[in-house]
Amino acid sequence: MQRLLVQNNLFLLKKYEFLRDAEVLYAPVYRSPPQLDFFRKRFSELQKFLPGVIWCEHAEEADFDVALSWDAEFETSAFGARIYPEQNRLFSSRPMKLPVTFTPFRQPAEDLLPEFFPDAVLPWDTEVKNELDYYFREKLLPATYIETRNEMTGRDGSTKFSAFLSCGVLDVRHLYNEIRTFEALHGVTKSTNALVYELLWREYFTWHYQKHTRAYFSRNGIKGVLDFTPFKKYSTEELRSLTTVPFFLAALKELTTTGFLSNRTRQIFASVWINDLKLDWRSGASFFEEHLIDYDVYSNYGNWMYLAGVGVDPRGKRYFNVNKQLKTYDPEGRYLSTWS
Ligand SMILES: Cc1cc2nc3c(=O)[nH]c(=O)nc-3n(C[C@H](O)[C@H](O)[C@H](O)COP(=O)(O)OP(=O)(O)OC[C@H]3O[C@@H](n4cnc5c(N)ncnc54)[C@H](O)[C@@H]3O)c2cc1C
Repeated sequence: MQRLLVQNNLFLLKKYEFLRDAEVLYAPVYRSPPQLDFFRKRFSELQKFLPGVIWCEHAEEADFDVALSWDAEFETSAFGARIYPEQNRLFSSRPMKLPVTFTPFRQPAEDLLPEFFPDAVLPWDTEVKNELDYYFREKLLPATYIETRNEMTGRDGSTKFSAFLSCGVLDVRHLYNEIRTFEALHGVTKSTNALVYELLWREYFTWHYQKHTRAYFSRNGIKGVLDFTPFKKYSTEELRSLTTVPFFLAALKELTTTGFLSNRTRQIFASVWINDLKLDWRSGASFFEEHLIDYDVYSNYGNWMYLAGVGVDPRGKRYFNVNKQLKTYDPEGRYLSTWS
C-alpha cells in the first residue's frame, strides 16, 4: 500500500477516491498554537471521509512514498510542477500576459470570469459549510461588505474565509459561485463587486509569484537587484520590547492569540513595522508566516512587498498614520479596549 503525505493543501483531496486505497498521513505545517488548533479542526473533519487518515505531527520524521503537497518555497522540486495545476485558483492556467500592476490585470480577468464555475469543489468541512450559510444566507452579509470590510473587530465586517481558502478546504471557485448566487437573489451591488475584486487580488498574487518567484523573498522585492541577505526573525517578546505604541502591542496580542488580523490591522501593523520601527519587511512577512492561520505565501509576501514599496504598488511605500487610522476605522476605540 502506498503511503501518501498530505500537508496543508487539502484542496488536493478532491481526488479522495484514489486516496481511499492508500495510507494517508496528514502532516500540516504549523509554527504557532493557533495554527495547530486550526489544522487539528481540519483533521477531525478530514477523518469523516478518510477514517484511516493518520495525524502526523512532524512531517520531517514521516516515512512516505509520495508527498501530495506543494509549497511555493519548494517549487523547483519535480512534484511541484506536477501538483501546481491543482492549486486553489479561479483560473486554472494563467489567463493572460501578466501586467506589472493589478489595475490592468483586473478588467481582462473580470471579462474572463464565467457566470458560474460548474467544476467547483463543494465544501465538505462542516465549519466551512456553516460559515458559508451564516455569511450568505442567514446574515446576508455580502450586501454590506463594502461598508464593513475595514472594521478591525468583530466577525461580520469581512468574510473570514481566508484561512479556509489558504488550506484548501474552500474552493475559491465555490466561493465565487456563492457570490454569484447571492447576486442572482439579491442583486449585483458595489459590495458584491468588491468581494470579487478581492478574490482577483488573491488570484493576481498567485500569478505574480509565478512570474517573479524568488524575488518575493528578496529585500528589494521585484524592484531591484536580488538581495537575499539574511534577515532577523523576531520573537513576540522582542517585538514587545521595541515599542510602546499601544496599537502595535494590541495587534501583536490579537495575532499571537487568534492567528488572525483584519486587513486594515495588517496594513497599519506593516506600516508601523516598516516606517516607524524601520525593520526589514521580510522579517515582518516571516512573523506573519509564523502566526497567521490564513498564511499564504503569495498573498502574504505580495502584500508586504506592496506596503514596503518594492512590490506591485505603482505609488511606492505606503505610510499609515496610526492615530488617524484608528480615528477613522475604530472611532469607538473597540480595538484597543479588546486587545490591550
Ligand atoms: C501585510 C499583509 C499580509 C497579508 N497576508 C495574507 C496571508 O498570508 N494570507 C491571506 O489569505 N491574505 C493575506 N492578506 C490579505 C488580507 O488581509 C486577508 O486575505 C484578509 O484580511 C482575510 O480576511 P477575510 O477572509 O475576511 O477577507 P475579505 O475581506 O472577506 O476578502 C475575501 C477574500 O479575498 C482575498 N483577499 C482580500 N484582501 C486581499 C488582499 N489584500 N490580498 C490578497 N487577497 C485578498 C482573501 O482570500 C479573502 O479571504 C494580507 C494582507 C496584508 C496587508
